Amino acid sequence: MNESSDKATGTLFVVATPIGNLKDITLRAIEVLQACDWVACEDTRHSQRLFQAHGIDSKTLALHQHNENQQAQSIIDRLLQGHNVALVSDAGTPLISDPGFPLIQLAHEQQLSVVPIPGPSALIALLSVAGLNTNPFTFHGFLPAKSQQRIKALEAWLPLSGTHVFYESAHRIVACVDDLLAVFGATTPVAMGRELTKTFEQVFRGSLNELTDLIVADRNHQKGEFVLAIQGQKADTDEQLTPEQRQLASQLQQHLPPKTAAKVVADHYGINKKQVYQFMLDAKAP
Ligand code: SAM
Repeated sequence: MNESSDKATGTLFVVATPIGNLKDITLRAIEVLQACDWVACEDTRHSQRLFQAHGIDSKTLALHQHNENQQAQSIIDRLLQGHNVALVSDAGTPLISDPGFPLIQLAHEQQLSVVPIPGPSALIALLSVAGLNTNPFTFHGFLPAKSQQRIKALEAWLPLSGTHVFYESAHRIVACVDDLLAVFGATTPVAMGRELTKTFEQVFRGSLNELTDLIVADRNHQKGEFVLAIQGQKADTDEQLTPEQRQLASQLQQHLPPKTAAKVVADHYGINKKQVYQFMLDAKAP
Protein backbone atom coordinates (compact mmCIF):
# COMPACT_ATOMS: atom_id res chain seq x y z
CA MET A 1 0.00 0.00 0.00
CA ASN A 2 1.56 3.32 -1.02
CA GLU A 3 -0.55 5.25 1.49
CA SER A 4 1.60 5.88 4.61
CA SER A 5 2.65 2.23 4.96
CA ASP A 6 6.20 3.16 5.99
CA LYS A 7 5.00 4.93 9.15
CA ALA A 8 5.42 3.37 12.58
CA THR A 9 1.69 3.61 13.23
CA GLY A 10 -0.97 2.36 10.84
CA THR A 11 -3.54 4.36 8.90
CA LEU A 12 -7.28 4.24 9.40
CA PHE A 13 -9.04 4.30 6.00
CA VAL A 14 -12.72 5.24 6.02
CA VAL A 15 -14.04 3.53 2.92
CA ALA A 16 -17.38 4.17 1.17
CA THR A 17 -19.02 1.06 -0.30
CA PRO A 18 -22.06 0.56 -2.59
CA ILE A 19 -25.63 1.42 -1.52
CA GLY A 20 -27.00 -1.45 -3.62
CA ASN A 21 -25.27 -2.08 -6.90
CA LEU A 22 -22.03 -3.92 -6.08
CA LYS A 23 -20.29 -2.29 -9.02
CA ASP A 24 -20.54 1.13 -7.37
CA ILE A 25 -17.14 0.96 -5.71
CA THR A 26 -14.02 2.86 -6.65
CA LEU A 27 -10.80 1.21 -7.84
CA ARG A 28 -9.04 2.85 -4.91
CA ALA A 29 -11.55 1.43 -2.41
CA ILE A 30 -10.95 -2.10 -3.72
CA GLU A 31 -7.19 -1.59 -3.57
CA VAL A 32 -7.28 -0.26 -0.01
CA LEU A 33 -9.68 -2.94 1.27
CA GLN A 34 -7.45 -5.65 -0.19
CA ALA A 35 -4.21 -4.17 1.16
CA CYS A 36 -5.36 -3.41 4.72
CA ASP A 37 -4.42 -5.73 7.57
CA TRP A 38 -7.97 -5.56 8.94
CA VAL A 39 -11.35 -4.39 7.71
CA ALA A 40 -13.75 -3.28 10.44
CA CYS A 41 -17.26 -4.06 9.14
CA GLU A 42 -20.65 -3.07 10.49
CA ASP A 43 -21.70 -6.64 9.62
CA THR A 44 -18.92 -8.97 8.49
CA ARG A 45 -21.31 -11.38 6.72
CA HIS A 46 -22.98 -8.57 4.82
CA SER A 47 -19.62 -7.20 3.64
CA GLN A 48 -18.46 -10.66 2.50
CA ARG A 49 -20.82 -10.43 -0.49
CA LEU A 50 -19.06 -7.29 -1.64
CA PHE A 51 -15.61 -8.70 -0.90
CA GLN A 52 -16.34 -11.90 -2.85
CA ALA A 53 -17.55 -9.88 -5.84
CA HIS A 54 -14.23 -8.02 -5.93
CA GLY A 55 -11.75 -10.70 -4.82
CA ILE A 56 -11.04 -9.10 -1.42
CA ASP A 57 -9.90 -11.58 1.24
CA SER A 58 -8.65 -9.34 4.05
CA LYS A 59 -9.27 -10.27 7.67
CA THR A 60 -12.44 -8.73 9.10
CA LEU A 61 -13.70 -7.73 12.52
CA ALA A 62 -17.09 -6.41 13.57
CA LEU A 63 -17.74 -2.81 14.59
CA HIS A 64 -21.41 -2.00 15.01
CA GLN A 65 -23.55 0.32 17.11
CA HIS A 66 -23.71 -2.17 20.01
CA ASN A 67 -19.96 -2.78 20.40
CA GLU A 68 -18.32 0.26 18.89
CA ASN A 69 -17.18 1.84 22.15
CA GLN A 70 -15.19 -1.26 23.21
CA GLN A 71 -14.17 -2.24 19.70
CA ALA A 72 -12.87 1.23 18.89
CA GLN A 73 -10.12 0.91 21.50
CA SER A 74 -9.04 -2.48 20.20
CA ILE A 75 -8.81 -1.03 16.65
CA ILE A 76 -6.76 1.90 17.97
CA ASP A 77 -4.35 -0.61 19.57
CA ARG A 78 -3.89 -2.32 16.20
CA LEU A 79 -3.23 1.01 14.50
CA LEU A 80 -0.68 1.92 17.19
CA GLN A 81 1.05 -1.41 16.50
CA GLY A 82 1.44 -0.35 12.87
CA HIS A 83 -1.48 -2.22 11.28
CA ASN A 84 -3.56 -0.52 8.58
CA VAL A 85 -7.29 -0.76 9.19
CA ALA A 86 -10.22 0.04 6.89
CA LEU A 87 -13.67 0.94 8.21
CA VAL A 88 -16.76 0.06 6.14
CA SER A 89 -20.47 0.11 6.91
CA ASP A 90 -23.25 -2.01 5.39
CA ALA A 91 -23.90 0.61 2.73
CA GLY A 92 -22.55 3.94 1.58
CA THR A 93 -20.27 6.19 3.56
CA PRO A 94 -19.40 5.22 7.15
CA LEU A 95 -20.55 7.68 9.85
CA ILE A 96 -23.37 8.98 7.65
CA SER A 97 -26.18 7.61 9.86
CA ASP A 98 -23.77 4.74 10.47
CA PRO A 99 -21.30 3.62 13.17
CA GLY A 100 -17.72 4.87 13.46
CA PHE A 101 -17.86 8.15 15.38
CA PRO A 102 -16.10 6.95 18.60
CA LEU A 103 -13.39 5.28 16.52
CA ILE A 104 -12.65 8.40 14.47
CA GLN A 105 -12.62 10.54 17.62
CA LEU A 106 -10.15 8.23 19.34
CA ALA A 107 -7.97 8.04 16.23
CA HIS A 108 -7.73 11.84 16.13
CA GLU A 109 -6.99 11.98 19.86
CA GLN A 110 -4.07 9.64 19.21
CA GLN A 111 -3.04 11.79 16.23
CA LEU A 112 -3.32 8.80 13.94
CA SER A 113 -3.70 9.27 10.23
CA VAL A 114 -7.36 9.02 9.12
CA VAL A 115 -7.88 8.89 5.36
CA PRO A 116 -11.22 9.07 3.51
CA ILE A 117 -11.81 6.84 0.50
CA PRO A 118 -14.92 8.58 -0.88
CA GLY A 119 -17.75 6.98 -2.80
CA PRO A 120 -21.52 6.40 -2.66
CA SER A 121 -23.97 7.86 -0.20
CA ALA A 122 -27.76 7.60 -0.60
CA LEU A 123 -28.38 11.26 0.23
CA ILE A 124 -25.91 12.49 -2.40
CA ALA A 125 -27.25 10.04 -4.99
CA LEU A 126 -30.77 11.43 -4.51
CA LEU A 127 -29.69 15.08 -4.44
CA SER A 128 -27.79 14.60 -7.70
CA VAL A 129 -31.03 13.77 -9.54
CA ALA A 130 -33.73 15.47 -7.43
CA GLY A 131 -33.74 18.77 -9.31
CA LEU A 132 -34.06 20.64 -6.00
CA ASN A 133 -31.90 23.51 -4.80
CA THR A 134 -28.76 22.03 -3.23
CA ASN A 135 -27.33 25.35 -2.18
CA PRO A 136 -27.83 25.05 0.72
CA PHE A 137 -29.09 21.61 1.71
CA THR A 138 -29.43 20.18 5.20
CA PHE A 139 -29.11 16.48 5.98
CA HIS A 140 -31.14 15.32 8.99
CA GLY A 141 -30.34 11.59 9.14
CA PHE A 142 -33.36 9.62 10.41
CA LEU A 143 -36.40 11.46 11.78
CA PRO A 144 -37.90 10.58 15.19
CA ALA A 145 -39.95 7.37 15.09
CA LYS A 146 -43.04 8.79 16.84
CA SER A 147 -45.35 11.08 14.91
CA GLN A 148 -45.59 13.77 17.58
CA GLN A 149 -41.80 14.20 17.78
CA ARG A 150 -41.47 13.88 14.02
CA ILE A 151 -43.91 16.74 13.47
CA LYS A 152 -41.96 18.85 15.97
CA ALA A 153 -38.73 18.13 14.10
CA LEU A 154 -40.34 18.99 10.76
CA GLU A 155 -41.76 22.25 12.12
CA ALA A 156 -38.26 23.28 13.16
CA TRP A 157 -37.26 23.18 9.48
CA LEU A 158 -39.89 25.73 8.44
CA PRO A 159 -37.75 28.87 8.98
CA LEU A 160 -34.89 27.35 6.94
CA SER A 161 -34.26 27.77 3.23
CA GLY A 162 -32.74 25.23 0.86
CA THR A 163 -33.49 21.52 0.63
CA HIS A 164 -33.96 19.08 3.52
CA VAL A 165 -32.75 15.52 3.02
CA PHE A 166 -33.39 12.57 5.31
CA TYR A 167 -33.60 8.79 5.53
CA GLU A 168 -36.77 6.85 6.26
CA SER A 169 -37.52 3.19 6.80
CA ALA A 170 -40.15 1.20 4.92
CA HIS A 171 -42.41 0.65 7.92
CA ARG A 172 -42.68 4.39 8.64
CA ILE A 173 -42.82 5.79 5.12
CA VAL A 174 -46.62 6.18 4.98
CA ALA A 175 -46.85 7.87 8.39
CA CYS A 176 -43.89 10.07 7.57
CA VAL A 177 -45.34 11.32 4.28
CA ASP A 178 -48.57 12.02 6.16
CA ASP A 179 -46.70 14.24 8.61
CA LEU A 180 -44.80 15.97 5.80
CA LEU A 181 -48.13 16.80 4.20
CA ALA A 182 -49.50 18.22 7.46
CA VAL A 183 -46.46 20.45 8.05
CA PHE A 184 -45.35 21.44 4.54
CA GLY A 185 -48.62 21.44 2.57
CA ALA A 186 -49.78 19.56 -0.51
CA THR A 187 -47.97 21.51 -3.22
CA THR A 188 -44.45 21.48 -1.76
CA PRO A 189 -41.91 19.98 -4.19
CA VAL A 190 -40.38 16.73 -3.01
CA ALA A 191 -38.13 13.97 -4.32
CA MET A 192 -37.96 10.36 -3.21
CA GLY A 193 -35.31 7.77 -3.98
CA ARG A 194 -36.35 4.19 -3.31
CA GLU A 195 -33.95 1.28 -3.71
CA LEU A 196 -31.42 3.53 -5.46
CA THR A 197 -28.94 1.67 -7.71
CA LYS A 198 -30.86 -1.61 -7.18
CA THR A 199 -33.04 -3.62 -9.57
CA PHE A 200 -36.28 -1.90 -8.58
CA GLU A 201 -34.85 1.60 -8.29
CA GLN A 202 -37.47 4.33 -8.22
CA VAL A 203 -36.90 8.06 -8.35
CA PHE A 204 -39.97 10.24 -7.86
CA ARG A 205 -40.16 14.00 -8.30
CA GLY A 206 -43.35 16.00 -7.79
CA SER A 207 -45.55 17.54 -5.12
CA LEU A 208 -46.19 16.07 -1.69
CA ASN A 209 -49.75 15.37 -2.77
CA GLU A 210 -48.54 13.32 -5.74
CA LEU A 211 -46.04 11.46 -3.56
CA THR A 212 -48.81 10.53 -1.14
CA ASP A 213 -50.93 9.20 -4.01
CA LEU A 214 -48.01 7.18 -5.35
CA ILE A 215 -47.17 5.59 -2.02
CA VAL A 216 -50.69 4.90 -0.85
CA ALA A 217 -51.87 3.57 -4.22
CA ASP A 218 -49.44 0.66 -4.38
CA ARG A 219 -48.05 -1.33 -1.45
CA ASN A 220 -44.99 -2.16 -3.53
CA HIS A 221 -44.08 1.51 -3.34
CA GLN A 222 -43.86 1.17 0.44
CA LYS A 223 -41.08 -1.44 0.29
CA GLY A 224 -37.32 -1.09 0.35
CA GLU A 225 -34.98 1.69 1.40
CA PHE A 226 -35.95 5.34 1.17
CA VAL A 227 -34.26 8.68 1.03
CA LEU A 228 -36.34 11.85 0.74
CA ALA A 229 -35.63 15.46 -0.14
CA ILE A 230 -38.10 18.30 0.35
CA GLN A 231 -37.92 21.94 -0.64
CA GLY A 232 -37.61 24.24 2.37
CA GLN A 233 -40.45 26.62 3.08
CA LYS A 234 -38.32 29.73 3.46
CA ALA A 235 -37.97 30.48 -0.21
CA ASP A 236 -34.61 31.46 -1.58
CA THR A 237 -36.41 34.29 -3.32
CA ASP A 238 -33.54 35.73 -5.29
CA GLU A 239 -33.04 32.42 -7.07
CA GLN A 240 -36.65 31.35 -7.31
CA LEU A 241 -38.53 34.43 -8.52
CA THR A 242 -37.92 35.80 -12.00
CA PRO A 243 -37.27 39.56 -12.42
CA GLU A 244 -40.86 39.99 -13.78
CA GLN A 245 -42.35 38.20 -10.77
CA ARG A 246 -40.29 40.32 -8.38
CA GLN A 247 -41.30 43.53 -10.17
CA LEU A 248 -45.02 42.74 -10.04
CA ALA A 249 -44.74 41.75 -6.38
CA SER A 250 -42.97 45.02 -5.52
CA GLN A 251 -45.58 47.10 -7.36
CA LEU A 252 -48.60 45.35 -5.87
CA GLN A 253 -47.08 45.50 -2.42
CA GLN A 254 -47.43 49.28 -2.52
CA HIS A 255 -51.22 49.04 -2.95
CA LEU A 256 -52.29 45.79 -1.31
CA PRO A 257 -51.69 43.98 1.99
CA PRO A 258 -48.68 41.62 1.53
CA LYS A 259 -50.72 38.41 1.79
CA THR A 260 -53.19 39.58 -0.87
CA ALA A 261 -50.41 40.84 -3.12
CA ALA A 262 -48.55 37.52 -2.76
CA LYS A 263 -51.68 35.59 -3.70
CA VAL A 264 -52.31 37.71 -6.81
CA VAL A 265 -48.71 37.22 -8.03
CA ALA A 266 -48.70 33.51 -7.17
CA ASP A 267 -52.02 32.90 -8.98
CA HIS A 268 -50.92 34.93 -11.97
CA TYR A 269 -47.67 33.00 -12.47
CA GLY A 270 -48.79 29.66 -11.02
CA ILE A 271 -46.08 29.75 -8.35
CA ASN A 272 -45.90 29.17 -4.61
CA LYS A 273 -47.60 31.94 -2.60
CA LYS A 274 -45.19 31.51 0.33
CA GLN A 275 -42.25 32.23 -1.95
CA VAL A 276 -43.72 35.56 -3.04
CA TYR A 277 -44.70 36.45 0.50
CA GLN A 278 -41.19 35.69 1.74
CA PHE A 279 -39.73 37.85 -1.04
CA MET A 280 -41.90 40.74 0.16
CA LEU A 281 -40.80 40.29 3.77
CA ASP A 282 -37.14 40.13 2.74
CA ALA A 283 -37.54 43.23 0.57
CA LYS A 284 -39.08 45.11 3.51
CA ALA A 285 -36.35 44.09 5.95
CA PRO A 286 -33.83 46.89 6.66
N1 SAM B 1 -24.17 5.36 5.25
C1 SAM B 1 -25.27 5.27 4.34
C2 SAM B 1 -25.11 6.34 3.25
O1 SAM B 1 -24.03 6.91 3.12
O2 SAM B 1 -26.06 6.56 2.52
C3 SAM B 1 -26.60 5.35 5.04
C4 SAM B 1 -26.76 4.36 6.15
S1 SAM B 1 -28.32 4.41 6.94
C5 SAM B 1 -28.09 3.25 8.26
C6 SAM B 1 -29.31 3.46 5.87
C7 SAM B 1 -30.44 4.26 5.29
O3 SAM B 1 -29.99 4.96 4.15
C8 SAM B 1 -31.58 3.40 4.78
O4 SAM B 1 -32.47 3.06 5.84
C9 SAM B 1 -32.22 4.31 3.77
O5 SAM B 1 -33.02 5.27 4.40
C10 SAM B 1 -30.98 4.99 3.15
N2 SAM B 1 -30.51 4.20 2.02
C11 SAM B 1 -29.45 3.37 1.98
N3 SAM B 1 -29.35 2.79 0.77
C12 SAM B 1 -30.36 3.27 0.02
C13 SAM B 1 -30.80 3.06 -1.32
N4 SAM B 1 -30.18 2.19 -2.10
N5 SAM B 1 -31.89 3.75 -1.75
C14 SAM B 1 -32.52 4.61 -0.94
N6 SAM B 1 -32.16 4.85 0.32
C15 SAM B 1 -31.10 4.19 0.81
